[in-house]
Amino acid sequence: MKKIYLANPRGFCAGVKYAISYVDTVHDSYQNETIYVRKEIVHNRRVVEDMQKRGISFVNELEEVPENSIVIFSAHGVSPEVVEQAKKKNLRIGDATCPLVTRVHRKAKKYKDTYQIIYIGHEGHDEAIGTMGEAKMFLVEDEEDVVKLKNVLDESNPITYLMQTTLSVKDTKSIVDKIAEVFPTVEHPDKDDICYATTERQEAVESIIDHIDAMLVIGADNSSNSLRLEQLAKKTKPKSFRVANASEISRESFDDREIEILGITAGASSPQILLDEIILKLKEFYPDVNVELFPESREDSMNFKLPRELLK
Ligand code: SF4
Repeated sequence: MKKIYLANPRGFCAGVKYAISYVDTVHDSYQNETIYVRKEIVHNRRVVEDMQKRGISFVNELEEVPENSIVIFSAHGVSPEVVEQAKKKNLRIGDATCPLVTRVHRKAKKYKDTYQIIYIGHEGHDEAIGTMGEAKMFLVEDEEDVVKLKNVLDESNPITYLMQTTLSVKDTKSIVDKIAEVFPTVEHPDKDDICYATTERQEAVESIIDHIDAMLVIGADNSSNSLRLEQLAKKTKPKSFRVANASEISRESFDDREIEILGITAGASSPQILLDEIILKLKEFYPDVNVELFPESREDSMNFKLPRELLK
């Protein structure tokens, strides 16, 4: 391998930084108490393990949290049912939901009494579960699912749609086109819900893809936006692949692929340390490899402030 191009923006998005800093700030402010986080704060094991080392506890469900404790909801958001359950246990709630996910929840609440809502998303993903808890929704994962709704929705009443924030921009457009074809009366929202970070990271991959032999995506198996980056890269460069961390790469995996120029990107929940460790390993394999930022890069464009009142 001769060259590595780093895509930008890549890695932590504003929502992930917000969620991590939320937990850190609550942890610093309530040093004598155990802080419980429901689900992985973001979909990355390294981030979770670093927090666990500092004494922060992770649970899957609120049953595992003692009454009156502090619980923080993860970046992906929760359904109103979970909030109710927390209140019943007198938990003090910190909400680290990304503000861009919260925006979709607000739209769901606004639409729920007027519209039949189609939700474009991935079944079982934490964000989809949380958002779909706000109202009755009809989940579609692809165009075929849209066709199956033909005899389920009542076309004499209003229909609209919402979507998960981390979808593939192109695939979602095809699904929206299918919705418009199957349900010509559908009311399109003013703006779609795919977030800026997902869009910018996918655009960065598209701008680099013709200049490389393969893309290495750093991201976990349960990270929706990382899976979309991998899928996008593979469409043009089939040798592209995804790893969760440096332990998953070997010299053979690169030699076998015959890569001269490698692109690297990272999903929105992958910390910089994972990239640093991978670069270190690649430099051991190929001491003369040249690592540079891809020339058409740009910086992540957003930042969210923590609320004044951290707990409710
Ligand atoms: S990927 Fe988008 S929606 Fe998800 S946390 Fe980041 S900014 Fe928020």
